Amino acid sequence: MIFMPNDFFEEKLLDLARKGAEDKVRILKGLHKKVMPSQFERIRQNDKSVMQELFLPKWISWELLRAWSDNIRPAGRGRTCVLCNEPNEMGITFNEKFICENCFVRIKQLE
Ligand SMILES: [Zn+2]
Repeated sequence: MIFMPNDFFEEKLLDLARKGAEDKVRILKGLHKKVMPSQFERIRQNDKSVMQELFLPKWISWELLRAWSDNIRPAGRGRTCVLCNEPNEMGITFNEKFICENCFVRIKQLE
């Protein structure tokens, strides 16, 4: 698994905003409306062939798209758990990190 810091995406957003590239910021923020759930899963699974189907602007790199998928919380998908990396709607936020219900129960059992 490739470690991708979650703030890579946010840094890119801030960088674009600083440069006044508001159209690009808008595209990134609206990306979840363009990507189908199945395509989203493929991005998360590092399946680069999905790039050919998305018709994204050239400045959106695979690295950025991956960071985006780590960062995004499409409606109904919940948040990404810091332990299992899976999106889940149920869970707790601890020190600003989201831990899904399944992992939380597992941790509790270890205690
Ligand atoms: Zn989890």
